[in-house]
Amino acid sequence: MEIQALDEKKESGVQRAPFSFLDLNAQFAEIREEVLAAVNQVLENQVFILGPEVDALERELKDYLQCRFALGCASGSDAILLALMALDLRPGDEVITTPFTFVATAGSIARLGARPIFVDIDPKTYNIDAHKIEAAISSRTRAIMPVHLFGLAADMDRIAKIAATHNLPVIEDAAQAVGARYNNMPVGNSGSLGCFSFFPSKNLGGAGDGGLITANDAALAARIKILRVHGSRTKYSYELLGMNSRLDALQAAILRVKLRHLDGWTRARQANAERYQRLFQEYAIDRYIGLPSTPGDRSHVFNQFVIRSKKRDALRQHLAHSGIPTEVYYPTPLHLQPAFANLKYSEGDFPEAETASKEVLALPIFPELTEEQQVSVVEAIAGFYDGKS
Ligand SMILES: *Cc1c(COP(=O)(O)O)cnc(C)c1O
Repeated sequence: MEIQALDEKKESGVQRAPFSFLDLNAQFAEIREEVLAAVNQVLENQVFILGPEVDALERELKDYLQCRFALGCASGSDAILLALMALDLRPGDEVITTPFTFVATAGSIARLGARPIFVDIDPKTYNIDAHKIEAAISSRTRAIMPVHLFGLAADMDRIAKIAATHNLPVIEDAAQAVGARYNNMPVGNSGSLGCFSFFPSKNLGGAGDGGLITANDAALAARIKILRVHGSRTKYSYELLGMNSRLDALQAAILRVKLRHLDGWTRARQANAERYQRLFQEYAIDRYIGLPSTPGDRSHVFNQFVIRSKKRDALRQHLAHSGIPTEVYYPTPLHLQPAFANLKYSEGDFPEAETASKEVLALPIFPELTEEQQVSVVEAIAGFYDGKS
């Protein structure tokens, strides 16, 4: 495969260094000194679990996300779990969500013995199709959980209206969408609770696992604060059945450094996305490829830049041979995963999610991606279609 990639480069007369799908080293090089100083400070303090660094990060993120409460926890998956626990989700309850997402969205529902009720997606935004939510509501429905997939907010106005009509809380899975806006407000704030992830590949990524829950309701926030420390408000007294899910001070210190750079990185991602859009037009391949579209009431933060192709697998293989890294998010929708077989869904239940899973292809979009690298991506895609059409 590498030899073939070299051959192709020789053919096109261009010699390019290989690059990765997500280059975290490039980001680290930019903030190295700041990060090392922050880590050093934590080591000097020897306070590792919650504490002043986590308090400071929570204050900064509460302001950044324009919500009343922001609470750190051990991961994005735990953020969802804690949000559902705070709402006292019980076995037999139902939560409406999308089948086209990372496993943790529905997995957290199922882990509490509740049932994920899937609703198909809008093929343009890849987010839950809000027009189809109402038909999925039953007497057992306890919450609606939209996901802001790839960094683009779901149809929150419509979802909020449906939720209000049926008196249901909305939990936003904003793991991929920190800083994304809907009606000019940051996501994680329009629902009852918002869940964020600091997994290293997210737009605000730590040096390991981490997560955050946002809330505007003081009672819910208080419950989450207790639930993340074993259900305890005062030492060795347990009010609720909680868990151990806290954010480390080391993560918080690093995330505080990165938060200062986040808007700049987001703008770089958005600029890269615009450049892809231009290049796809210039190379006249936008007719073969479905490009991301952003409704006017939202801003996209491009955790992923996802295109669609009817020949996705062949295209992906061609790109791999040309040294272009790509990923598929997600190759199998959750309703067809063995882990959710007990829900008794079958192929054909959510046709838009199923088609998307066969057609989507994520291209490199990280902030430090260069113009030359983007040109090489689009050239390689053009090469595929020149040869095929
Ligand atoms: C990453 C992610 C999560 C889980 O976050 P972790 O921090 O990895 O546990 C949940 N939902 C979505 C949509 C994600 O992308």
